[in-house]
Amino acid sequence: MDCIFCKIVAGEIPAVKVLDEEKVLAFMDINPACRGHILVVPKRHAENIFEISEADLSAVMGAVKRCAATAQEALGAEGITVLQLNGRASDQLVPHLHVHIMPRWENDGLTVSNWEMKSGDMDELQDIADRVKEHLPPS
Ligand code: AMP
Ligand code: ZN
Repeated sequence: MDCIFCKIVAGEIPAVKVLDEEKVLAFMDINPACRGHILVVPKRHAENIFEISEADLSAVMGAVKRCAATAQEALGAEGITVLQLNGRASDQLVPHLHVHIMPRWENDGLTVSNWEMKSGDMDELQDIADRVKEHLPPS
């Protein structure tokens, strides 16, 4: 398969690895948005959150939690942004699920959560919540 993260998992292209476990690999982002920018990926290919199994996603998120806490401690970060994109409309570039761990510092200038705060229309919010609830499968 012509997937860059599958090639990293297979050892066909190099990466600066942080964690290597049965189901999960974590490595440094090659174009870091900030100091300590890490990517956590499942070893089994899944394009996005819709395709990945809950077991693999759970393993990924467990590794995300440990990497985030350790990076925060090791780098003296003041916060951590955890980011995961699905689909071109959300700016996903690499179609192999990955979670970004981005250490943050006060006034570091990174803008990943800078949407304008506007009050929602309560009827519309309720309508949307009802529509999602109606279709939500049981766990
Ligand atoms: P996105 O799909 O928008 O969530 O971002 C993909 C991320 O993968 C970007 O931050 C890239 O810098 C990163 N990336 C792409 N290729 C590599 C690679 N070979 N090694 C490490 N990181 C990569
Ligand atoms: Zn892949």
